[in-house]
Amino acid sequence: MADQGAVDVGEMIRTKRDGGRLGDDQIRRLVAAYSHDGVPDEQMSALLMAIYFRGLDQGELRTWTAAMVASGERLDLSALPLRTVDKHSTGGVGDKISLILAPLVAACGAAVPQLSGRGLGHTGGTLDKLESVPGFRAALSPAQMLAVLRDVGCVICAAGPGLAPADRRMYALRDVTGTVESIPLIASSIMSKKIAEGTGALVLDVKVGSGAFMRELGDARRLAERMVTLGSEHGVRTSALLTRMDTPLGCAVGNAVEVEEAVAVLSGGGPADLIEVTLALAREMLALAGLAAGDGPDPGSALADGQALDRFRAMVAAQGGDCDAPLPRAAHREAIPAVSSGWLRALDARAVGNAAWLLGAGRARKEDPVSHTAGVLCLAKPGDPVETGQPLLELRPPAPLVLERITA
Ligand code: URA
Repeated sequence: MADQGAVDVGEMIRTKRDGGRLGDDQIRRLVAAYSHDGVPDEQMSALLMAIYFRGLDQGELRTWTAAMVASGERLDLSALPLRTVDKHSTGGVGDKISLILAPLVAACGAAVPQLSGRGLGHTGGTLDKLESVPGFRAALSPAQMLAVLRDVGCVICAAGPGLAPADRRMYALRDVTGTVESIPLIASSIMSKKIAEGTGALVLDVKVGSGAFMRELGDARRLAERMVTLGSEHGVRTSALLTRMDTPLGCAVGNAVEVEEAVAVLSGGGPADLIEVTLALAREMLALAGLAAGDGPDPGSALADGQALDRFRAMVAAQGGDCDAPLPRAAHREAIPAVSSGWLRALDARAVGNAAWLLGAGRARKEDPVSHTAGVLCLAKPGDPVETGQPLLELRPPAPLVLERITA
């Protein structure tokens, strides 16, 4: 149990409320005490709200993040024979890039240790998607995770309770106290987990637009800059790409439907926008890992010739999944037709994400189950010509939406 008397949280709240600076020692003791139940939630909530309004300077943020990392274990991947590089996305609609990218980058010669999360709200979670593959196990011990990484070159699994446990508690508190949308708190939350994961390099995919956390380019850039600085301050080579999230990525939004689309890209097909962002991230990851073009296969060729698909199948099999078993499919489909002819001007990512979520593909609370079959297929994308009556979207509800038709 941490020394509760050693940190004066009331003083820290007043300092931050009045625009002052928190001391390094205060921050370390606060985070250590909070992760051992030594700080009441009402005081932590007040401090988080003061930070929401006043921010943290880079020195405070570095110490805050280091304290979050120190609240748990930091994995040591140095025994692996390959360079390690991971990717984190701030979350978007139809974002199944991790499913393609981890095996793709592994096929090109780097090891990808990807600790992922589950979806909350309108954006889906990588683990929810992978769990639609029959038998797939996301919960691995650190030793199991290392074994898959060593044998296959990539692993996608859940972050264990030992990694940055202070963030786990604090994120849950932020979720119910209106303090999630703070750039320094988001930066420290994301980076503490990635630093604790032990990766040598990290590429951040910071999404911008209606379907993203950050709707404005300026905010996305500020978040990216703070995370990149935090990474290098903690010895993780880090860079960020800002990518568009006004329209769903690819055509499929849901769980099993997104796995299907990811497999299509791994098989050399799939939608152009998804391929473009995936290849840009893969090239950035390989460069950051120090692998020059020519050190291994080119990412474009590894998609075209099946090497990335082989890695995907090997990773899923190593985690208990059966790639040959059929993915679950929705028994019901409802088409949404175009009401007039013309060109599709926009397809709002957040609206499509919310629709998939309402159909059951996502969860409102972290303990809710998800439907693996529910989702939305975007049958036309902005810029496409459409005719009256042509289906624009296909809804995949877990049960029929229309129960009865009564006529005169
Ligand atoms: N994702 C995280 O892990 N933390 C945040 O604060 C926001 C998004």
